[in-house]
Amino acid sequence: MAAVSGGAAGWGHPRPGITLDNAFFWEGLRLGELRIQRCAACRQLRHPPGPLCPGCHSTDWDFVRSEGRGTIHSFVVAEHPQVPPFEYPNVIVLVDLAEGTRLVSRLADAEPESVAIGQPVAVDFETVDDALSLHFFRRLPEE
Ligand code: ZN
Repeated sequence: MAAVSGGAAGWGHPRPGITLDNAFFWEGLRLGELRIQRCAACRQLRHPPGPLCPGCHSTDWDFVRSEGRGTIHSFVVAEHPQVPPFEYPNVIVLVDLAEGTRLVSRLADAEPESVAIGQPVAVDFETVDDALSLHFFRRLPEE
């Protein structure tokens, strides 16, 4: 039996905690869809997914497919400590989606000095392996 190699690179990509409440979201990413949970009673959208509507406390929900467009609400540039498999500098964005919810993602193809709040972005998807795909965003030309 081969020895387990040292170093964080041998650990692979971090895995999300997938539950009955958020499995639809991760399944959507594998299909190239950004899904937003919606309360089936009052129709309020919410992210991250959860079992209970914060507006009306209903446990009934479905989801909508986001168009994947939004703007940068806020961002941070992670530079240290550098943890595999992430690339650095790692621009982490909080995106205001056009549908009205926000989510945290990665901004690709961006020099940190050029990133600004309010810039328009669009979602894209990357396949990590057979069981995991992730979302990330790219900036769009400003109108
Ligand atoms: Zn509700």
